Amino acid sequence: GICIGKAYLVGREGVNVIKKYYISDSEIENEKTRFKEAVSKVKEELKAIIDETPEDFRDHASIIETHILLLKDKMLYGKTIESIENKRVNAEWALKNVVSELKAMFLKMPDPYLRERASDIGHVSDRIMSNLVGKDPVNIKSIDKRVILVATDLSPAQASQIQLEWIKGFVTDGGGIASHTGIIARTLEIPAVLGLNNATHIIKNDDLIVVDGTTGTLIVHPTEDTLVEYEEKTIRYEQRRALISRVSQLPAKTTDGVLIKIMGNIELPEEVVSVRDYGGCGIGLYRTEFQYMGRPDFPSEEELFDKYKDVVEIIAPNYVTIRTLDINGDKNISQYSGDHEDNPVLGLRAIRYCLQKPDIFLVQLRAILRAAAYGKVRIMIPMISGIHEIIETKKMLDAAAKSLKKDGLKFTRDIELGAMIEVPSAVVMADSLAEEVDFFSIGTNDLIQYTLAIDRGNQHVSYLYQPLHPAILRMIKRVVDEGHKKGIDVFMCGEMAGDPMHLPILLGMEIDELSMNPQSIPMVKNAIRMISFKETKAFVKEVMAKTSEKEIRVLLEQKYAHLITENIYNE
Ligand code: PEP
Ligand code: MG
Repeated sequence: GICIGKAYLVGREGVNVIKKYYISDSEIENEKTRFKEAVSKVKEELKAIIDETPEDFRDHASIIETHILLLKDKMLYGKTIESIENKRVNAEWALKNVVSELKAMFLKMPDPYLRERASDIGHVSDRIMSNLVGKDPVNIKSIDKRVILVATDLSPAQASQIQLEWIKGFVTDGGGIASHTGIIARTLEIPAVLGLNNATHIIKNDDLIVVDGTTGTLIVHPTEDTLVEYEEKTIRYEQRRALISRVSQLPAKTTDGVLIKIMGNIELPEEVVSVRDYGGCGIGLYRTEFQYMGRPDFPSEEELFDKYKDVVEIIAPNYVTIRTLDINGDKNISQYSGDHEDNPVLGLRAIRYCLQKPDIFLVQLRAILRAAAYGKVRIMIPMISGIHEIIETKKMLDAAAKSLKKDGLKFTRDIELGAMIEVPSAVVMADSLAEEVDFFSIGTNDLIQYTLAIDRGNQHVSYLYQPLHPAILRMIKRVVDEGHKKGIDVFMCGEMAGDPMHLPILLGMEIDELSMNPQSIPMVKNAIRMISFKETKAFVKEVMAKTSEKEIRVLLEQKYAHLITENIYNE
């Protein structure tokens, strides 16, 4: 959102000027105890913050719980104690050095999500340091003026102490979109701009500032005109937000009473909350590769199981569709040390990679089968180009189940298996593939790329990237018809599903579920409430008779332009 108000600076005074001094043998134990006591105190402080966190903000509590675990992490806790012993330095200096090495290691990671974890280490160590040097961290909770916080960084613990009746918003020098503080800002729905680098240097206490969290803009000393412009923007934004929250939980029912299932796509487990809040009835695509990216090692079964189980439990009793690892192509992982590929998008990607690396695949399948015992899970395989890949995956699932049984772990093998239809050969073979799986999910992002020979990331040919190309529509129709003939459901989870203008065609073809990014859900559901299902059946016949994308677009605009123009206000 947007907020306008006076700045209130919060710094980390005292923590940044740490002196080094050497200690004698006899002082080592004492110094270690001082450090351990500081850690225990921080643990108590964080626990108290969790206790005070209202039920509605479960996310905050889990992030702060992660910080409690971090306190005793070997890399932080163990190394600092080791450093006090081996280097004979004061606890503050030992901690400072361990933290700066740890942070540097995280900051080198290519994956932005993991890079952000450097800030978690910073927040935890700042708290320990404040305790060591005897400074109280700024008590956000005690602020009782209507202000906007300007901070070098806010820890998730500090952010969760924000009293919404006083704090209008915040800006920070550190952090970024995937930082935990950013996640908390989104849950609190408080205007925030993070990662500004030098906000605390430019802004002074009581300066008038404008924070526009929708565009990531901060304005210091706005002119009269700018103030008027942003006041109007704020009103429009609030109106839209109120409208969205009023309508997002309404059913996606057509004017003639047909209920359409709208699901959400997620990349990070944290996003599951937005799917629920925006009115999605399950997860239609969980892109699991992000947990493998930007790290030197592969995630363990336990790590994957924990994440999957969280998502499964939050979205229960609805489905989570977990897509198996879709790496390479445009999503490289650093652990992959295969030969150089001139054409990675046509290379050892997704299921091809997994079947060549059964050890890695088995870890993921075991984690999925274990999480499936806690709710409703479906498995979906990306990049299927022929039937053998499905048969091989089923064998792997059997092997995973067998080994889990042997290990005596709780799991279920009774799980629906689906094929993503995103390679043209899978469309051609849809009738045969349908015999082998429980559902299809059409991945239009890749299907368009591979069918029209358009690199989905190349801006020079983006004008040719056309979801409404008659070839694409004929393929989608074939997949739906062949799937239904064999009695299986057909879903869509590519970007095409999230555009209200495509709905008349997708509904008319009788696709069983549409999955999209969470923010698109309210608008799509709202558009469905303007459509007559019966009319879309006749409309699709008209569309299928056309031979160019332009004709189809014209037809849609003639009959269905109101799906956009009369939809929820979208600035
Ligand atoms: C797709 O290809 O349409 C799809 C949903 O998968 P991704 O975008 O992850 O390739
Ligand atoms: Mg794809």
